[in-house]
Amino acid sequence: PAFADGTPARAIVDLDAIRDNVRALRGHAPSADLMAVVKADGYGHGMLPAARAALAGGATWLGVATAEEALALRAGLDTDVRVLVWLLVPGAPFAELIAADVDVTVAAPWALEEIAAGARAAGRTARVHVKVDTGLSRNGVAMRDLPAVVHRAAELEASGELRVVGVFSHLACADEPGHPSIDRQGAAFDDALAQVARAGLRPEVRHLANSAATLTRPDLHHDLVRPGISVYGNSPGPGVGPPGRFGLRPAMTLESRLANVKQVAAGEGVSYGHTYTTTQDTTVGLVPLGYGDGVPRHGSGGAGSPGAPVAVGDGASARVLRVAGRVCMDQFVLDLGPGATERAGDLVTLFGASDGVAHGSPLPNAQDWAEAAGTISYEIVTRLAPRVPRVYV
Ligand code: PLP
Repeated sequence: PAFADGTPARAIVDLDAIRDNVRALRGHAPSADLMAVVKADGYGHGMLPAARAALAGGATWLGVATAEEALALRAGLDTDVRVLVWLLVPGAPFAELIAADVDVTVAAPWALEEIAAGARAAGRTARVHVKVDTGLSRNGVAMRDLPAVVHRAAELEASGELRVVGVFSHLACADEPGHPSIDRQGAAFDDALAQVARAGLRPEVRHLANSAATLTRPDLHHDLVRPGISVYGNSPGPGVGPPGRFGLRPAMTLESRLANVKQVAAGEGVSYGHTYTTTQDTTVGLVPLGYGDGVPRHGSGGAGSPGAPVAVGDGASARVLRVAGRVCMDQFVLDLGPGATERAGDLVTLFGASDGVAHGSPLPNAQDWAEAAGTISYEIVTRLAPRVPRVYV
């Protein structure tokens, strides 16, 4: 019953799910183009396979954070799909990015001169998106700096170094529908667009919506939506609702096999720190995955926390148990209960394609793990370590 390649665990990535999720997202934003966000190794799913699947679903743009990611997309994909990179530092390889036909972001005044120099070195006109800080107070041109930035951008456009093809911003609280900051940011973005127009700049695309706004705020879609987590079939969070509500399905299934099944007497402490104590003579099962694989230690059970859910067994005969005691570097324990019939080699699924046990599904999803570990599903899938092989189906 071990996996064919003998590995203790694997992350199955369903590329059809990614393709179908992008199709579904396009249905939610029919008047906008779609940029699939594939940074951080495609949120842990594998950047290039995820990108190809997203393109098959109708994405016409790809978005990444780093220059390295953008260049890896260009090197690995045999397509002229538009690629936007948005998190750049002084000294970033602007000439290389521009030569590779990557759209680059001005998120701070310094970037304009570096992009202009890069364009001269590359011998071509840079395609630039101005990222405006409309209230996230993270990256982006501050509203107070915007007049100077658009003025300088217009000068550099006139002299041929660059063309402002896009204006965008990012939302702080879109995963909390109704949060007042969403409307405030939407209005600030409109103000920024008006300033850009007054400076004589004529961008092709205006974009603001992440997954949550793509799903819940059609009035903020503008020309292009930029979903990330929903491309991979996860909801942005409990405030938005389970993925099935939007026709999405999680693309990643993390599964393993019980490596050891044995009896433990009542009153015994389980795993480091003995935070979990058996209440009866019982059977424990060992799952060979731990925080060295990216499974969060905060998913531990005991000492007042129920532990993250794990499905044991196949299909309809599977049952959901909770992590017993601490998640260790390479392994954790499940309390299978007295008289358990499970055996070493039996399948265990940490999370998969479901709406989650919190919504009555018999299979946990990444959101269930996120809630047990006090984090977000983004971190659960993105931090899955390279040690866990990705198997593409
Ligand atoms: N746009 C930008 C600028 C981002 O940084 C991100 C991700 O953090 C996204 C879009 C996608 O966001 P989400 O994964 O919530 O859809």
